Amino acid sequence: MPGLVIKPRSRIFHGHDWVYSSEVKKAFGDPQPGDVISLKDFKDRPLGSAIYNPSSQIVARRFSRRKQELDHEFFIRRLKLAFSLRDRFSVDPKLCRLAWSESDGLPGLIVDCYGKHLVVQTLTLAMDQRIDLIAEALKELLAPETIILRNDSPMRKAEGLEPENRILHGSDPGPVPLITGGLQFEVALLSGQKTGLYLDQLDAYKRVARLAAGKRVLDCFSNQGGFGLACAKAGAAAVTCVDISADAVAAVKSNALRNDVEINAVEANAFDFLKSCEEHYDLIILDPPSFTRSKKTLGDAMRGYKEIHLRALKLLDPDGYLSTFSCSHHVTRELFLSNICAAAVDAKRTLRLVESHAQREDHPVLPTIPETEYLKGFTFQLLPGR
Ligand code: SAH
Repeated sequence: MPGLVIKPRSRIFHGHDWVYSSEVKKAFGDPQPGDVISLKDFKDRPLGSAIYNPSSQIVARRFSRRKQELDHEFFIRRLKLAFSLRDRFSVDPKLCRLAWSESDGLPGLIVDCYGKHLVVQTLTLAMDQRIDLIAEALKELLAPETIILRNDSPMRKAEGLEPENRILHGSDPGPVPLITGGLQFEVALLSGQKTGLYLDQLDAYKRVARLAAGKRVLDCFSNQGGFGLACAKAGAAAVTCVDISADAVAAVKSNALRNDVEINAVEANAFDFLKSCEEHYDLIILDPPSFTRSKKTLGDAMRGYKEIHLRALKLLDPDGYLSTFSCSHHVTRELFLSNICAAAVDAKRTLRLVESHAQREDHPVLPTIPETEYLKGFTFQLLPGR
């Protein structure tokens, strides 16, 4: 098998599975893009099998410590392992992320389940080349009605892959009705944001909504209103959802009707909305998109967070709650927390931590691959009487 010799002190010797181009000592046997290759250390000892893409900065991603092909049997075995983990969780196995890339030993492969429909993404060249094998394995294991390929993630660019959305099996199911946490949604799997719903946030809706009864709630960056709807259902006095996308605002409105709740859905830039808002709230939720995908723009991202934190704190009434989330991997939990603290200092408010949030358990974290952890959040209460 062709492969790469890895330089000493590379991250793979510290439990990571990625090899950056700067960590390659030399290639042997002429590996081709998308191939399965073997990795070796500088003393010729085997480190396992990896997928190869010389046009990515991450030239190799290890998926096994042994010699292993990416064949039908492999996909069946790894997918079964991924599914069996979800079966043990408290997540609904019919509405969850069934396979998540490195965290399931399938680098670059994502499989989301929406009832009878599966939505698949391939974010690495090797997985992309084997999409038919993957679809066959999924059909064999789950007999889904539909398999949709949702390959419009910007991450594909880093692997030299073009966007591509299409049906792999079955036909376009159109709008798919879903029920989760007592809420009804309708998702367009072929065209909605992400792969339909924000599965990573489903638990957080419930947890935040516990605070909502009788409160005036503002859900900023609401997308189709997951937080706002849960709060309205939990008995909020009033709910406003703000999103910049007209489609998202239309979805909030139809979801409100569907769930028989009232929501004021506003199409606006949340930065401008928070700046010019004259109303006060008892619970504000901030769940913006990733403000940075690289370390280079981290400073700008932190300024963005500081601004929305500061403005939100000023709009909260005494003893109000703030639930704030960041889905940028580069914004660590500690960094995010210190950003909120700095905003609280400027706003002359004292915060009490009520709850920490994380990505749902169907998006598991590998501590030796820090990139698998991305979503973090906190709910604070303004310390009453201060
Ligand atoms: N809370 C949502 C997910 C939010 S995703 C949920 O759980 O479903 C981020 C959302 O922010 C997207 O819907 C996007 O349209 C919106 N968005 C991006 N930039 C924005 C801005 N400047 N102002 C308001 N909304 C914005």
